[in-house]
Amino acid sequence: MPRRKSWSLHWLTLAVVLPLGVLTSLAVIGTRSQLKAARSEARELAERQAPALAAVLEHDLGQSIHEIPSYPDPPVPGSPSPKDDVLDGTDLAALEALRNDPDAGLSPAGLPRRALAALAIHRLDPKRPGNESAMESVLTLEAPSVLTSRAVDTILTGETVKSRWRKEETIHDLVRDLDLQGDTWIRRDDRFIHLVHRDGILAYAEFPDVPVDFDRGLPAWAEARLSLATTPAPAEVIATSRVRVGSGLEVRIKADALRIEAPVRRQQRWIFSMLAASVVTAAVALAVLHRTLRRERQLGEMKDQFVASVSHELRAPVASIRLMADALEAEKVAPETAKEFHRLIAREGARLSTLVGNVLDHARIEQGRKAWKMEPCDLAALVADTVRVMEPLAGEKNITIKHELSAVEARVDADAIQQALVNLLDNAIKFSPPGTIITTALANDEERRTWTLTVRDQGPGIPKDEQGRIFERFYRPGDELRRETQGTGIGLSLVKAIAEAHRGRVSVESGPGQGSTFTLTLPTESSPTDH
Ligand code: ADP
Repeated sequence: MPRRKSWSLHWLTLAVVLPLGVLTSLAVIGTRSQLKAARSEARELAERQAPALAAVLEHDLGQSIHEIPSYPDPPVPGSPSPKDDVLDGTDLAALEALRNDPDAGLSPAGLPRRALAALAIHRLDPKRPGNESAMESVLTLEAPSVLTSRAVDTILTGETVKSRWRKEETIHDLVRDLDLQGDTWIRRDDRFIHLVHRDGILAYAEFPDVPVDFDRGLPAWAEARLSLATTPAPAEVIATSRVRVGSGLEVRIKADALRIEAPVRRQQRWIFSMLAASVVTAAVALAVLHRTLRRERQLGEMKDQFVASVSHELRAPVASIRLMADALEAEKVAPETAKEFHRLIAREGARLSTLVGNVLDHARIEQGRKAWKMEPCDLAALVADTVRVMEPLAGEKNITIKHELSAVEARVDADAIQQALVNLLDNAIKFSPPGTIITTALANDEERRTWTLTVRDQGPGIPKDEQGRIFERFYRPGDELRRETQGTGIGLSLVKAIAEAHRGRVSVESGPGQGSTFTLTLPTESSPTDH
C-alpha cells in the first residue's frame, strides 16, 4: 500500500512538473520569436522612414548651408543671431554655441536647431575631432522630435481639436466646415497649411517657408516631412545620421530596440511571473500532499504496530494466568507460592481489564460512539481510590505513590477520569526506575473555575521534540529504555480524548533526565463535547 502511494506520488509529481517544464520552454521560445519579430518590424519601420528623414534634413541643412559663402568667414556684424534665424552661421563658433544651446529649439521647418548646427559643422569641417559623435549624440537626443508631432505643428487625436484659427471644436465639425476629405491643402494668409484626416486622427502641418503654388504641389522635402508626420509609431525610433562631404547626406535610422522590446518584455515578465506562481503553487501542493501521504503511511505503520502490541499484551497475561491457574488447580505449588500466584493472577487480570477497557474506549471514541456520563463527583475520593488500586503495581518496583489532594467537587464522567488517571499512573510506574516517588496532586482553581490533576514521576523524562507527538494515537517513540517497555501507544491519546470531552486539556512538562509531569486541567462544570 505505501509503496503504491509513493509511486502514485511520483507519477503525480511528474504529471505536474512535465507540463510546467513544457509550458516554460514554450514561453521562452515564444517570447524569443516575438522579440525577434518586434526587432525586425522596428528595423523595417526605420528603413521606411530613413529616406523621408534624409529629405527633411537635406532641406533644412540646405536652407542654411547654401547661404554660407565660404569658410571661415568672419561673422557679419549686426547679423541676426543663429538662434533667431535658421542657421546663417558662417561663424563656426556661433554654430558651436548653437549646437551646445539646449534652448535652441526648432528650425522653421520643424527640425532641432542643435542637430542642424552639428550637421553644418560637420559639413564645413568633416575632420574636426569629435564632430561626428557630437552630432550623433545631439541628433539622438533630439531625433524623436524630428519624427513626432513637433515636426508638424500639431497632431490632434480624439474628439477635440485645438486649431490655429478656431479655439476648440470637434474634428467632426472641422471636417464638415472645411469639407475635408483625405488630404487637404489650405491657404491661410501667407501660410500653406496641410490637413490630413485619417481614422479620426487629424494631422495639421504648417509650412511658412513653402512657396504657395497649388498647381505644382509641394516640394519633395515637404511631402517627405508630411509622410514622416503621418507614419505610425514614430516615438519608437531614434535617428542617427552621417554626412559624407560631396556625396550629399546619408541618413541612417537606428531602431530603438529597448523601446520596441518593452511591450514584448512586459508580456514576457507577465508570462514568467504566472509560470513562477504556478510552479510555487504546484510545489506547495505537492509538498502538502507528500506530507499527508507520509503521515498516512506512518499512521498505517503505527496501526500495524498497535495491533501487534495489543495481541502481545493480551496474549502474555492470558498465558501466564492460565499457567498459574493450572498449577493451582493441580495443587502442585507450595502455599507461599500459591499466595504469590493469586496476587499475580489478580494483577494480570487488572492489567488485562485496563488494556481491554482502553482498546474498547479508544474504538468507541474513534467511531463517536462513546457516551459520557457527567455527574457530580468527589474527585479527592476518586483519586485516592485509584491510587490505592495502583499501589500494588508500584510496590512491585518499590515505587511510592504520594498524593496531595484538595477537596474538589466537579461534574465529570467518573469512570473516564479514573481511566485517565490509571493510564497516567501506569505510564509513570512503567517508565520510572525502582525506588523512586510518584506524586499525584489534585488542586482547585476557584477563580478560573477549573481543577487540575497532576502526576509527577522521577523517570527518564521525554525529549522536547517528542512531547508534541506522544498524545497522538499509536505513537510509541523513545530511547531504548522506553521502547523496551511494553505498551500500545493509545494510553495518552485516550487521556487527551477524555480531557477534551470534558472541555479541558492535558499537558506535559518534561525533559531528558528530569522526570515528567502530566497535568489534566478541566473545568469544574463540564458538559460533554461532540467527541
Ligand atoms: P504506551 O505507554 O502504551 O506506549 P502512551 O500513549 O501511554 O502509550 O504513551 C506514549 C509514549 O509516551 C510512550 O511510549 C512513552 O514513550 C511516552 N511516555 C508516556 N508517559 C511517559 C512517562 N511518564 N515517562 C516517560 N515517557 C512517557
